[in-house]
Amino acid sequence: MNNKELLRKIPKIDGILEHPDWPELVVEYPEGPAKDALRAVIENVRFAIKAGQVTSIPSISEIVQAARKMLGEWTNPRLRRVINGTGVIIHTNLGRSLLADEAIGAIVNAASHYTNLEYDLEKGARGSRYDHCTAVLKRLTGAESSLVVNNNAGAVFLVLNTLAEGKEVIISRGELVEIGGSFRIPDVMKKSGAVLREVGTTNRTHKEDYENAINQETGLLMKAHTSNYRIKGFTHDVAVEELVSLGGQYGVPTYFDAGSGLLFPFQVMTGNDEPLVSAELAKGLDVISFSGDKLLGAPQAGIILGRKSLIDMMKKNPLTRALRPDKFTIAGLESTLLLYLDRERAKKAIPTLRMIHEDVNVLRRRAQWIVKQVRTRCPSLSADVTRLDSEVGGGSLPDVVVPSFGVGLKPRGMTVQNFETRLRGLEVPIVGRIEKDVFLLDMRTIRKDELDLLVQGIESALGDGE
Ligand SMILES: *Cc1c(COP(=O)(O)O)cnc(C)c1O
Repeated sequence: MNNKELLRKIPKIDGILEHPDWPELVVEYPEGPAKDALRAVIENVRFAIKAGQVTSIPSISEIVQAARKMLGEWTNPRLRRVINGTGVIIHTNLGRSLLADEAIGAIVNAASHYTNLEYDLEKGARGSRYDHCTAVLKRLTGAESSLVVNNNAGAVFLVLNTLAEGKEVIISRGELVEIGGSFRIPDVMKKSGAVLREVGTTNRTHKEDYENAINQETGLLMKAHTSNYRIKGFTHDVAVEELVSLGGQYGVPTYFDAGSGLLFPFQVMTGNDEPLVSAELAKGLDVISFSGDKLLGAPQAGIILGRKSLIDMMKKNPLTRALRPDKFTIAGLESTLLLYLDRERAKKAIPTLRMIHEDVNVLRRRAQWIVKQVRTRCPSLSADVTRLDSEVGGGSLPDVVVPSFGVGLKPRGMTVQNFETRLRGLEVPIVGRIEKDVFLLDMRTIRKDELDLLVQGIESALGDGE
């Protein structure tokens, strides 16, 4: 058959609409989109014929089936739940921090009801959305004032623009960091209208380097936490205390972009230099900022703390309106912060903290349970309990590995790459990593109530392959 004949043989829309398969489809999906899908499928067939890719015409049933698949793709949400078996707790690609039940409850409450978001219930007058978290942040960190924006990138931008637009910002060359996802301190600084004045060298910067750079044009002394890397060996950096003393001497404000919001020290971080927000503020910094969804374990947010006069200037900056957090962020953040008032409770209730602190023996038992299930249910899979190291992630604690347990899986009937692809293609995708031809799932980032689903997923990923 030549192309012309093939094109003529494509079933007509009217004919398909009368075929017994069609009513079934329009029970599942609304008619308008269903017809659009049908037309799109037929257009694809026509295109494939013209390109010489087909030699026979699909049946009406096949066409309707293709339309059903297309409708599935159109109507199912693209953003989906996944099971995180990577062991990276604050996994930026997988959505960073999970929220405490209390925070989820607060978000649902704010979504379902009117709230006093910008209404002062005592005065019966307009209030500010920025006031809700101020008191609890002050209690937790000692900060005089606070401002919450969309994320920490926005916070850095707002601080620089408010305090140093058209002025010089002195920062160590060793701290001109790039955080994943195209956030680079020099680029943000440029966009903010501040002028970068880098001092020192990559590995060593001294107080004199800052001091020598201070002049009439200086607007801000800045430090940035080198979140995702460490410079080791022959190094020196300027302590916050030194920066604060210079700032006081020359009348220039000091700002620290701390990256992650650590509110109390964790056991696992012994010997690590992750900055503690309250301790940094106590050194006399004027402003500090950090993310809500990294170590803090709250929704995405940028939290700015510091001197009231400076925070008030930021509040008046028209940029703040463009960076303002929505009511869900404020609801989730406030209730997470309230949990921090009791540290032991915070460690249990906030998933990021809970995962960091989870007892390794609990994880071993979970891995053992999975292995036992898989061995009985999936004869074509070899499964073993494996010692692993989890990471905190999110640019926090790059040096810290948290001892963990997981399972190592190796299918016999297919390649481990194929197995990994199938796990990613499940209705609830399972994300892990391949190492030395074994598929690894770290138990630290898998919740207890996900274990059944995990075993089912492993079983069905093997299913059609056997
Ligand atoms: C993560 C990070 C940022 C960006 O914070 P987001 O909340 O992701 O916008 C900025 N600075 C430092 C030092 C960071 O670690």
